[in-house]
Amino acid sequence: MPLRVQMTANGIVCRNGSQEIWLDPKAPVPGAVNFVSHAHTDHLPAARNGRDGDRCTLLASRQTHAIAAVRGFRLDDHSERADGFEMVDSGHILGSKGLLFGETFYTGDVCTRDRGFLKGAKVPRCKTLITECTFGLPEFEFPPVQGVTERVNRLISEMYERSVPVILMGYQLGKAQTLTRLFGHWMPLYFHDSVLEMNSLHERLGVSLAGGIGHTEAESRGLLERRPWLMISPMLSEKTRFIRDLKSKYGAVTIGFSGWAKSPRFAFGRRADYSIPMSDHCDYSELLRMVRQSGAETVYTTHGFEEEFARDLQRLGIDAVPLTAAGTGGPAH
Ligand SMILES: [Zn+2]
Ligand SMILES: [Zn+2]
Repeated sequence: MPLRVQMTANGIVCRNGSQEIWLDPKAPVPGAVNFVSHAHTDHLPAARNGRDGDRCTLLASRQTHAIAAVRGFRLDDHSERADGFEMVDSGHILGSKGLLFGETFYTGDVCTRDRGFLKGAKVPRCKTLITECTFGLPEFEFPPVQGVTERVNRLISEMYERSVPVILMGYQLGKAQTLTRLFGHWMPLYFHDSVLEMNSLHERLGVSLAGGIGHTEAESRGLLERRPWLMISPMLSEKTRFIRDLKSKYGAVTIGFSGWAKSPRFAFGRRADYSIPMSDHCDYSELLRMVRQSGAETVYTTHGFEEEFARDLQRLGIDAVPLTAAGTGGPAH
């Protein structure tokens, strides 16, 4: 019985005879296998289908379970194994996984390059690949992490010489911890309170990160008056009160880290004084390399530029099918 892969309003479903496998469903389906790839909110189940007491097999890593719980999502019946299913590190954030079942692999959100404490994914060989394509356009080519790190260290050093405080901005879950690992040697080190909370959770899950003080405490103790300093913050608009205040009171500059920084077409990648291309996803050529290395005969594209990336794969002679959903859009995590 061939595998049928479909996009539905509840997410991707794979049907194999009588078996149903839901990949990052909005609501887990009783009687099916439900896989939660990682704890970014656009991948977590918002509710559950069926009546209370219906059992759902919910596959997720222990880290995804722990992070989801802190973010107010309860993966009640979660399990770390099910016969015939193997979770494979996807290198995107702590605890992120892809799913191998039969000869099919679903990437979840995936990154194949090493960054800080995160090791790049090693995608297994498969016949059918279901891949994300957040950065599935040729214009997305990210520079090596080493070069970016050196450039940012030079920039911070120049600011410190002029006593200018620096705010590094990236997603609260994932990027902010990588930034802490890469730039946590700058002193004094402060965190937006929400980043401090997420970093502490990472510590509890075994990731050691440089310590620092949360912004509320730093401000109330007058520590921010003593310049320069480095702060790690979520990606916030320059218009938010938080960033406006740090700029007007202390003359801080912002450095934003995002894959979108590269593209002239997506303004939300350039909201900071300096925008640095760094992502927790594959860039375009890494996506292509991953597809080739998987040896897949059929590729389904999802979560990004599905149509465009499928078309490029077809030009390379690969059988590629976009899994498109109505009503999605905007930057994915
Ligand atoms: Zn995502
Ligand atoms: Zn994600």
